[in-house]
Amino acid sequence: MASDPAGSPGPRGLAPLALAGRRRETARPPRHLADLPLAGRREVVAGLGQPPFRASQLSRHFFGRYTDRPEEMTDLPRAARDPLAQALLPRLLTAERELSCGAGTTRKTLWRTFDGALVESVLMRYPDRVTMCVSSQAGCGMACPFCATGQAGLTRNLSTAEIVAQVVAGARLLADGQVPGGPGRVSNVVFMGMGEPLANYASVVAAVRRLTDPVPEGMGISRRSVTVSTVGLVSAIARLAAERLSVTLAVSLHAPDDELRDTLVPLNRRWQVDEVLAAAWDYAAVTGRRVSVEYALISGINDQAWRADLLGSLLAGRLAHVNLIPLNPTPGSKWTASRPAAQREFVRRLEAHGVPVTVRDTRGREIDGACGQLAASVR
Ligand code: SAH
Repeated sequence: MASDPAGSPGPRGLAPLALAGRRRETARPPRHLADLPLAGRREVVAGLGQPPFRASQLSRHFFGRYTDRPEEMTDLPRAARDPLAQALLPRLLTAERELSCGAGTTRKTLWRTFDGALVESVLMRYPDRVTMCVSSQAGCGMACPFCATGQAGLTRNLSTAEIVAQVVAGARLLADGQVPGGPGRVSNVVFMGMGEPLANYASVVAAVRRLTDPVPEGMGISRRSVTVSTVGLVSAIARLAAERLSVTLAVSLHAPDDELRDTLVPLNRRWQVDEVLAAAWDYAAVTGRRVSVEYALISGINDQAWRADLLGSLLAGRLAHVNLIPLNPTPGSKWTASRPAAQREFVRRLEAHGVPVTVRDTRGREIDGACGQLAASVR
């Protein structure tokens, strides 16, 4: 982990969280062209005795036409197709299960990786955009008690290509016209699937580059349409700001006070609310991008009017908006989503502080849309 926050005791002298606690040594996924910048792909191609421009041809197939099938690469000499595809386009993800709702405009895929790990991605088509929600890790080490993935612990980091392949798979469905609404493109990517993206820093940043660099280097999605969501790894937020990637930062706050946030987001014992928000405002200042503050409304836990006021006072005047997420209860959880009246009052109080608020649409709920629930049901 490039940005492993464990190591020294937290600011309040607590032992570091066992962030990598259940991590075991795992084999690396096979090398894929999406792991490498174009220059690295050229080297691999040259090593196979092929002219380096074949790297661009392969890259166009993967990032521009969304295919890894040698038989579809008719611009490559027949004899070269298989060796090139084997060297740079191994199939990394196998669909284990597909679920859809909204007449097929929301599609969730459970993927199996080369070593049997399970990860999820979701495609959501709206009238004006298509958003892919991707996983950055198999499992998660952050242990948030309301999150299904948090309950399962961390299996391993995904490679750059394993992250990118989730988006390419969605892009292929859209290009093929397999999603109702006619042929289309992936316009937005959110790192809100399984895992803590900033705990897999190097692979996630490289994935953002692959997703946003123009074809043939990458997929050519707009950087402003990519959102990286974090529980608040302060050191990694600062590092991300310095990358000048201009992606949108989402911070999963869920409570405005440390006492409650310590229980909902255990990493808060390492970096508290004020430090997380300070890092978010620095990010906004450096990038000019409005920060999205994620807040899952849990009935009787974090939805009190006074917490709305406290949150409003923390965010007033900042380059931020609040995205309220009605809790999607995980199986066996005693927690439920807020009552409509409490949710309305929460919104009203934030707005009274001049803070922009949206309530996340709960699409996909009937297909275990919440983070990690589908994988948990298969295990
Ligand atoms: N680890 C990152 C990204 C993955 S989760 C993060 O925490 O930001 C994406 C968002 O979904 C986070 O805000 C997370 O707190 C929220 N979430 C997780 N489980 C949920 C649930 N059961 N109901 C509602 N929101 C949930």
